[in-house]
This record gives sequence, structure tokens and C-alpha cells, in this order.
Amino acid sequence: MIRTARLACLFAVLTALASFTPAQSNNGANAPSAIPSTPVATPAPAFDVNAAVEAYLSKMPPARRARSNSYFEGGYWLLLWDFLTTVVAMWLLLRFRWSARMRDLAERITRFRPLQTALYWIQFIVVTAVLTFPMTVYESYFREHKYDLLNQTFGPWMRDQLVGLAVSVVLGAILVVPLFGLVRRMGKSAWVWGAVLMIVFFAFVSLIAPVYIAPLFNKYKSLEDSRIKDPILSMARANGIPATNVYEFDASQQSNRVSANVSGFASTLRISLNDNLIKRCTLPEIETTMGHEMGHYVLNHAYKGLVMIGVVIVIGFAFLNWGINFALARWGEKWGVRGITDVAVLPLAVIVFSIYFLLMTPVTSTITRSMEFEADMYGLNAARQPDGEANVDMLLGEYRKLDPTPLEEFIFFDHPSGRTRITAAMRWNAERPETASAEEMARPLFDAK
Ligand SMILES: [Zn+2]
Repeated sequence: MIRTARLACLFAVLTALASFTPAQSNNGANAPSAIPSTPVATPAPAFDVNAAVEAYLSKMPPARRARSNSYFEGGYWLLLWDFLTTVVAMWLLLRFRWSARMRDLAERITRFRPLQTALYWIQFIVVTAVLTFPMTVYESYFREHKYDLLNQTFGPWMRDQLVGLAVSVVLGAILVVPLFGLVRRMGKSAWVWGAVLMIVFFAFVSLIAPVYIAPLFNKYKSLEDSRIKDPILSMARANGIPATNVYEFDASQQSNRVSANVSGFASTLRISLNDNLIKRCTLPEIETTMGHEMGHYVLNHAYKGLVMIGVVIVIGFAFLNWGINFALARWGEKWGVRGITDVAVLPLAVIVFSIYFLLMTPVTSTITRSMEFEADMYGLNAARQPDGEANVDMLLGEYRKLDPTPLEEFIFFDHPSGRTRITAAMRWNAERPETASAEEMARPLFDAK
């Protein structure tokens, strides 16, 4: 689920869709200024940004902070353990020729190539899910429970896993069948077309996700409470967002985590809040969160994310092409894999891609983290609730380390850390003291346990 969550995050970033307005830059260096040249800016009143940041950070009791740190730092290691689990599972499929046998079985059942690929895929994804299940159950069931981050008992959790597997069977087939078709037809340039197909696939999944995938895991309904809905829609109108409806979904089924998202593309675009956000947060906190989500939309993060991740994917396919040819030349015969056009090569492709994406972690983290920071800035300006923002940032600290080193943040954080976000909010607060909220500042967020 961690991996799924990360992918879902990526999709969320890729999904907001808006019209493109060229930036209006004014480069006229000699343009006369209407602003009097006498310096009139007075320094902001004595608001100590650092002290305010520390005051917010200290809202979380030390024991809880330690638990959150330990959870998040464990996640760094899980990147490595997940990688090793995948590599071992894929190596088993190759070394014992299970992959070759699954291909042979598919070929016996049908002579129709696309169907052979699809039949191989079904066997591959099910066997992989079984081989990696011990890791999955530890990582996303026992470990989540250990840190009090999961509300589900085993039955409903397992149901979500099976639904996720079914989604992988269908979506994976939609990707893999044309992918191997391309590889067979395009010869040496296949990797470029493969990358293009992958990018189109990402856009496609983003388009259908809010309508066809998300409801498989949670119930979505229109947000009825006008005390929340009206200010959100008002902010949307003010920011040129053509939303007429806000959705609420029952994330509390799975956990107590607060979150919200803008998802979909074009006609499927929607703003959704999770019920934990509504239950646990004040209106200023909900507003600043919504301002952030609207920022993703207005700043065209859908397109920008697709372009940036697209570059990573193109380089990835070049590496994939090289890695597969390198390994097949040495071990291809032993594994019973006929070549790069043979679907039985898939476990090898997964190994090469896993190496690539593990090495690219700081790059992919930084791509999303920088867009998230932009959305934070947008949210502060749109909602003008710096103290509400700081409180939400603290709540996110339940599952994201609040105060990492800059190197940790650079490598592992796909969102800015609590300290970074609260510092931005307090800096804003210092310059706009009229937006400060004593109530928000004083609001306790955590019980003492
Ligand atoms: Zn965001």
C-alpha cells in the first residue's frame, strides 16, 4: 500500500487540469515606476518567526514526535527492503524459469498474441502478489497498526488488497499488451515509443481514477454542510476554478490521517476532502488545505508534473533497454527468455526499472516536493490562514517526520517537512500580522499520550 500510495500521490499531482496562461513578465528595465522612490517600507513588527515555528512544533508531545520520527525513518529503510523483496521475487521467476513456463502456458491456450500477453500478465501479477505478500502484510498491515495509523481489521484490509490486485490486473493489461505490441513492431526505437505509451497511460489513469478507481476503496458523496462548502466554492470562484461541487470521502474507514486532493482531468476534475479533515479540523484549517489543492490546479501542476515525470520515464526506458539487453546476453538462455520482445522478459524489466527508480528517489521526491511547496504558497495567499496552515502541517506530522535534516528532506520527502511548511506560514504571518489567529495558535492538536 505504501507503494500504491506513492503512485496515487503521483497521479494526484498529474491530475489537476487548467488552461494555460502565459506568464506576463515585465522586463522593461527603464519603465517609469509609479512607486515613489523614497523607501517607505517599514520593517515588520517584532514577530519572531523562529520562536513561532518552535511554538507550533512543540504542540506535539515528545513521545508522539519520537513515534512519528521512527515511523517515517523506518520508511527510508522500507524503500530498500521493498526493492530487495521485488528483486528476489523477480529473480525466482527467472532463475527457476517460472516466467518462461507462464509464457508457454499462455501460448498453449491461444495463438492470438495480445491475448497471450494478457494471460501471461494475469499469472505474473498474481504470482508476484503472492511472493511479496509477507512483505505487504508486514508493511501495510502490522506496521501501520503498530503505529496506530490503520483503523482496519484484517478482513476489510484484505478486501482492499484484493480489489487493488484486481485493479492491477486490468490496468496492467491495458499497459502491457500495447507495450509488447510496440516492442515487437518498432525494433530498436521501441524504448522511445514505450516511454510515450507510459506517459499516455499515466494521463489515462489520472483521468479515470476519481470516477472508476477511488470509489472502489471509499464512498464519495457531495459535501452538504454549507458552512464548509460555501466558503470553499467561494474560494474556487475567486481563483477561477469552475468547480460546482465538493466531495467528501470516508477515509476514516482506513485511518485517521487528514488529507484532501484535487483529482481527475477535464470532465472528471473534482475537489475531495476526506472525512478526517472535516472531523478533526477547524474551518480556517480546511480553507488553507483547500487553498493548497486549488494551487495545484491553478499552477498547472498536472501538465508540469507530467512533463517532468515524463523526462524521468524517457531516461528510464533508455536505461531499461540497455539493462535488458545486457542481462539477456548473459543469462537469457538460462532463463528461457527468447529476447526483449518475449513477454517472459517482464521480471527482468521490473528489476531494471526498480534499480532505476530507487536511484532516482531524490529526483522524483524533489519534483513533487517543489510543486507541493508552490501549492503551499498559493494556499497561504488564497486562504490567508497562516495559523490554520501551521496546525494542519502539525497534524500531517503524525505520519511525516516534522523536523528532518536538509539532506533527509532532499532525498526522501515528497512533500515539504512540517518545519519547512510552518516556517513558510510564519514568515507569511510576520508580514501580514492582521491574518494571525490567536485561537488557532492556542488550539491543542494532540492529547498527551
Ligand atoms: Zn499537495
